[in-house]
Amino acid sequence: MTDTPAHFEVLPRDLSPYRVGNTGIEYVHRFASGEPGPHVMVNALTHGNEFCGMVAACHLLDNNVRPKIGTLTVSFANVEAYQSFDPADPFASRQITHNLNRIWTDEWLGGNEDSAELRRARAMRPAVAVADHILDIHSTSQDVEPFWVYPQFARNTAVAAALPRPEVHLVMPSGLGSGTPLIQHGRHGQPDGPGAAMVVECGQHFKQSAADLAVNVAYDFLGHFGLIESAPANAPQPPRRFELLRTHVIATSEFAFTRPLVGFETFARDELIATDGGLQIRAPCDDCTVFMPARIVIVGREGVYLTRPLL
Ligand SMILES: [Zn+2]
Repeated sequence: MTDTPAHFEVLPRDLSPYRVGNTGIEYVHRFASGEPGPHVMVNALTHGNEFCGMVAACHLLDNNVRPKIGTLTVSFANVEAYQSFDPADPFASRQITHNLNRIWTDEWLGGNEDSAELRRARAMRPAVAVADHILDIHSTSQDVEPFWVYPQFARNTAVAAALPRPEVHLVMPSGLGSGTPLIQHGRHGQPDGPGAAMVVECGQHFKQSAADLAVNVAYDFLGHFGLIESAPANAPQPPRRFELLRTHVIATSEFAFTRPLVGFETFARDELIATDGGLQIRAPCDDCTVFMPARIVIVGREGVYLTRPLL
């Protein structure tokens, strides 16, 4: 697999005006309405080069969006990775050491290892833990259709179905299989969790359309929970839902797909999708649909997500 040239419609901006929040946690801003209601968190930059969330978070803060009810938290997560962005190597600033979206367990957060991401997750933990509903805004390395990703809890399914966009849902019956994401931290990973906690993948990292969608989804999400006056919602399209079956984590430097993939390609049952050293990764079902195929081979990172369409 070769690297793809990147075209930048959105670039990083200076986040220093947002560094000092009002929570004692850098880059975390909280606004309480004084009225009863849910605590909703809109989080950006869990991955440092996923700029759409940054645009949405800045939009909320720059426009002084304040909740009518409940509490609103707006946060920028992996700012250190974001600040390492280099246009000559634009995918490297996803993370410094650890994937900030795989370490949200007591073991990682309470352990002895140290990294930029572990320090940041430990700092943000109280803000994540106190939120009822979480929108974690992401984007994809490949230019594919936007989609939701969420654990298969009724509370998530209901919210995703009520929102007008995006139309594709990737449902996780048993987590990611490669670590614990922010949206499954603590109570949010439990069947009796306090509220919806969902990732939205808004399209390609550097596209304006991803930034525009992130802004719209953030407002949709806040409107859904009554924190802001809802704009007249489009009637939701019937979602196209996929169920995550398996996540392949790259085991060897020989990992290779049998043909170039960007996501949403389908494979027949038992068709060969990739090889990884001596391992063959075959489609476990008909219409097996791949999500987020690795752009480059990095041992220990996800190679591909195998899903099946839910009818
Ligand atoms: Zn991401």
